[in-house]
Amino acid sequence: MLELKSLYRVFRDPDTMAALAASIAKDAAHLSEPLNIMEVCGGHTHTIMKYGLPGLLPSNIRFIHGPGCPVCIMPKERIDQAAILAAQPGVILLTLGDMMRVPGSHGSLAQQRAKGLDIRALYDPLDALAIARDNPGKTVIYFAIGFETSTPMTAVLLEQAERLGLDNLLFHINHVLVPPAMDAVMAEPATKVNAFIGPAHVSVIAGADIYRPAADKYHTPVVVSGFEPVDLMESILRLVRQKNDGRSEVEIQYSRAVTAEGNRTAQAKVNQVMEVRDEFRWRGLGPIPKSALKLRDEYQHRDAERVYGERLPIVEIDDHKACQCGDILRGLADPTDCRVFGRGCTPQTPLGSCMVSSEGACNAYYRYSGGPNVL
Ligand code: SF4
Ligand code: SF4
Repeated sequence: MLELKSLYRVFRDPDTMAALAASIAKDAAHLSEPLNIMEVCGGHTHTIMKYGLPGLLPSNIRFIHGPGCPVCIMPKERIDQAAILAAQPGVILLTLGDMMRVPGSHGSLAQQRAKGLDIRALYDPLDALAIARDNPGKTVIYFAIGFETSTPMTAVLLEQAERLGLDNLLFHINHVLVPPAMDAVMAEPATKVNAFIGPAHVSVIAGADIYRPAADKYHTPVVVSGFEPVDLMESILRLVRQKNDGRSEVEIQYSRAVTAEGNRTAQAKVNQVMEVRDEFRWRGLGPIPKSALKLRDEYQHRDAERVYGERLPIVEIDDHKACQCGDILRGLADPTDCRVFGRGCTPQTPLGSCMVSSEGACNAYYRYSGGPNVL
């Protein structure tokens, strides 16, 4: 019988990793400047730390961890809005797991739930349909988060709510877009980023072509990578070779799942119900134009931001003053630069959002610093 580990063994093979590390070292000797690779996606940060990849690379290649975790980039005021919505009479607030633990100004949603508010974590957004159906006298609000990856699921949820006539299911949309965040990183005068590892799941949906404007504008190579350590090492080798050749192309290493154009059906579902917002404030990166989605006017009756608009504060709220998530998300600091890392701030007692999700850079450093290495 086929064992699960036989499927991924080839992607974690120590001999392959050693061969790739040797090729990277050989080619990196010809780099004219240090290669500072931003892995945009938190899933990649997790693999990089779990498998100790920095220890396999020459000193002129380093990782800069990017803003690619939808939990980490959520500003406090949006979490506060979720808490206010949950406190409205007859409201059930739904969201996805890690979002429950991100600190807002008055604690996390999990802490609000402990005080008696009806806030529930979903594994599958479509479970919201059953909750709305089973609670006809309540207003059920789905606090939707995520990048291009999870947006189609929200779109399908809304489509189903319309089809089933579930008028008591509303949405608070916090879906954000990767390319404008890459632009914001590159616009930062102090940035050292000169290469990108492109997100995997995002690219499955949106297609690798979404990175071409950034590659062209900043002369920055982009390689869309799979999540396994061999995937990432191969992607790094491709980036080194692009740099040595003076190329700034978008390559797809993760060709077993990603195409240039992405999933057109999913894109059409999203476009049917959502459109781009003028601006959205990201934790750490600040306001970024055209970087998030909102519901189209046809669905304003389902838009919690409009239905409860007068009760939702829009004032910007800063992070805990000790927290350096902002600098980390802009690629200007490492988690270990934060003076409360691993002391005041741990995955059990997160002070900032980067420590909450397993895709957060601080969480990955905490769990895997000194952790296993495949060689
Ligand atoms: S959803 Fe997937 S692609 Fe997006 S940040 Fe998380 S792991 Fe990366
Ligand atoms: S260790 Fe905690 S407080 Fe420091 S930057 Fe990371 S999340 Fe913020």
